[in-house]
Amino acid sequence: MAALNPVQHLQDELTCSICCEVFQHPVILDCGHSFCRACITQCREEANAHVSCPQCRSPSSQNNFRPNWQLANVVEKAKQLNEQVAKGAEGEQVCEEHGEALKLFCEADQKLLCMICRESQTHRAHAVAPIQEAAEQYKDLIHTQLRILRGDREKLEEQKMNRSQEHQDYQEKSKTERQKIVSEFERLRQLMKEQECLLLARLDEPDRMIKKSQKETVTKLSQEISLLDSLIFEMEGKCQQPSSDFLQDIRSTLTRCMKRKLQHVVEMCPEGEKNRSDISEQNQKLKKMLGIPPSDLEKDRGEPQGSYSKENVAMDPDTAHCQLVLSEDRKSDHEALTVKS
Ligand SMILES: [Zn+2]
Ligand SMILES: [Zn+2]
Ligand SMILES: [Zn+2]
Ligand SMILES: [Zn+2]
Repeated sequence: MAALNPVQHLQDELTCSICCEVFQHPVILDCGHSFCRACITQCREEANAHVSCPQCRSPSSQNNFRPNWQLANVVEKAKQLNEQVAKGAEGEQVCEEHGEALKLFCEADQKLLCMICRESQTHRAHAVAPIQEAAEQYKDLIHTQLRILRGDREKLEEQKMNRSQEHQDYQEKSKTERQKIVSEFERLRQLMKEQECLLLARLDEPDRMIKKSQKETVTKLSQEISLLDSLIFEMEGKCQQPSSDFLQDIRSTLTRCMKRKLQHVVEMCPEGEKNRSDISEQNQKLKKMLGIPPSDLEKDRGEPQGSYSKENVAMDPDTAHCQLVLSEDRKSDHEALTVKS
């Protein structure tokens, strides 16, 4: 740290012990200590009574503080001295070539000049300004640039904030969208599960009908077969008989054989089969409406396929559900899925 010059030492001695600044309008107390008028007045107001000296604590009976004129004069002189010293410090720079004070600034060479430099061949034609004036001009330019830089900084700060806000908004939206998808698919799974149960339950009735008709058909066919068995047995026995016995009632026997026709062309219960195929058709319609692609099993069987693709499932969950209506199916007494058209 540079050593204090004598003027600075002097200023230290001229400092008020309350505000630690150089005295302003100093006043003196009975004890001989001095303070700024404003500082000691504030002390008295805070104490709300007769003030004691902040430096030595001795009580003071004064109501009006006496100005310390001598001290005020010394303070004034010290200030002037300080300014002169400061000016001297600034003017210390001298031209290395001519030993004169550098008081001018050459715009073209951006260089400090003394009066002799200014008259030289090199700078005679150059625009030259006093140092203070040139400094003021450049300060103006620098301040203009500072304003622009601060403005730009503010804009960038604003952009940064906006961008953060936008990102936050996006994250909120994305989160909401994800939650929506998850809950929609949860609803769809629930709905599909219900429809699966309904369709399976509806197959019970045709299953039962077909099972019953199958049993009846088998019984009927078995009866027919055993009737034919006894007729064949009788005919074969007849063929073994001697001619005289064989010819007995031969015409009526033959007529019985020929009159017999295969009477029953048995079909599988048509009503049950129709019910089953209705359910299958409904299943297909439901899948098509929901945009569900065909299973590998269906592809292998060559069942008709719509224009499905995994990437483009054309399903709008907001409206798809509205088309699915649960209704009472009177025929089967089951709740069944019907498709509005
Ligand atoms: Zn003071
Ligand atoms: Zn004192
Ligand atoms: Zn010079
Ligand atoms: Zn020059």
